[in-house]
Amino acid sequence: MIKRILLFLLLVILVLAAVLIFNTLNFKSKQLSVAALPAPEMPTSALQHFKDAIKYQTISDGDSSHLDSAQFFGFHKFLEHTYPRVHSTLAHESVAKYSLLYKWEGTNPALPPIILMAHQDVVPIEEETKKMWSVDPFEGVVKDDFIWGRGTTDDKINLISIMEAAEKLLGEKYQPERTLYFAFGHDEEMGGTGAQAIAALLQTRGIKADLVLDEGGIITKDKVPGMTKPVALIGTSEKGYLSLELEVEKSGGHSSMPESETSIDILAKALVNLRKEPFHPEFSESTMEFMEHIGPELPFLQKLVFANPWLFKSIIIGIYSRTGSGNAIIRTTAVPTIFKAGVKDNVIPTVAKVTVNFRLLPGDKGEVIIAEVKDRIHDDRVKIAPTRSFIAEASPVTPGDSFAYKKVDEAIKQTFPNTITSPFLMIGGTDSRYFGEVSSGIIKFSPMVDPIGFHGIDERVSLDSYQSAMWFFEQLMRNTR
Ligand SMILES: [Zn+2]
Repeated sequence: MIKRILLFLLLVILVLAAVLIFNTLNFKSKQLSVAALPAPEMPTSALQHFKDAIKYQTISDGDSSHLDSAQFFGFHKFLEHTYPRVHSTLAHESVAKYSLLYKWEGTNPALPPIILMAHQDVVPIEEETKKMWSVDPFEGVVKDDFIWGRGTTDDKINLISIMEAAEKLLGEKYQPERTLYFAFGHDEEMGGTGAQAIAALLQTRGIKADLVLDEGGIITKDKVPGMTKPVALIGTSEKGYLSLELEVEKSGGHSSMPESETSIDILAKALVNLRKEPFHPEFSESTMEFMEHIGPELPFLQKLVFANPWLFKSIIIGIYSRTGSGNAIIRTTAVPTIFKAGVKDNVIPTVAKVTVNFRLLPGDKGEVIIAEVKDRIHDDRVKIAPTRSFIAEASPVTPGDSFAYKKVDEAIKQTFPNTITSPFLMIGGTDSRYFGEVSSGIIKFSPMVDPIGFHGIDERVSLDSYQSAMWFFEQLMRNTR
């Protein structure tokens, strides 16, 4: 009897091994075979233009009434005199006062257009971090083969590279086959009302684009475990955004005679309960496609794991859960970002508030998450309400076999030699989330290699990245068939 059980087990193991190996051997590469084209030398004028662009303090500090209109209008003037061909050939207009929309008429009006996006605004420099910068963040410093400054990586590299490419092509009398739009929002870092207005305007004009390309995933040399080649992470969907305010009101008083529980205690307990367990993990469509694109390029054992997610799902989730960035790809996240209570050391505050920021995984609707939050906290004394009247749900997915994905994939292969490309779920939000009615082919990708200091100190991007970014947009504009 035991012998028969053992034999049966052996058979199961053999069949399982055969299935795993079969799937692994049939796990074929999805990489486009497109030859890379060597990028030309960077003209010194292009470098000067990027440096100049950094000098405009087009800051979004979270309060639209603080917007410094002189900086934005100055930036527009700078664009006008730096890119004269663009401004004399392309139709251009301001939208929502500070956002910019350009239209480069294509030779074939029957083809749906392509929209290239970037945003003009940058995040502020936190007062406490000013001293920590090794350069003046708004000077446009070039040193150690990097361009330094606020906005270099986010997002002026894209805006300036698009302009450089267009100006160059216009100099060659090039005309795209499809109509190209450039859409440059002015307040991406605080909600993106500019991009929203542009999207609404294009909608009223009946524009349906085949591709909308906005900032997003980057090219990374070491962030994908097991990969020896650089990987271009092409955002094909983005997570949703929701902030909740949790508030507790309980009469305070003198700190010399405290009750057993104060507003701060209740709120702290609510936070602990909310964060005790992570939200349920799931592979979104973009993540599934990521595994299908990356998997075949990995060494055999890792390839075997990605070729058989039906068996190894829990192992993959375990690995992803270990880091903040990995965890964010497989589940909705929640983190307290603002905590407010108390004014004086001997007064128990009556009101305690915390803002919790959620990033919603595709499939996790905001309302469902709010219900789960209430359930987890399970305390009626804690009032829970969204900080804004709307919830930005996760975006729809642009498939890896769509025109939009393929166009971007092709341009990456042309401009970044030896790079593996892959769909990917964007963790952060972008202006392109407003373009769902304008296009079903929305891609979030920034053509730069491992930028540094994104939203932080000593933000910078390499000269090579800038050179490739211009080259990337040039190829994309040439491939407009
Ligand atoms: Zn950005």
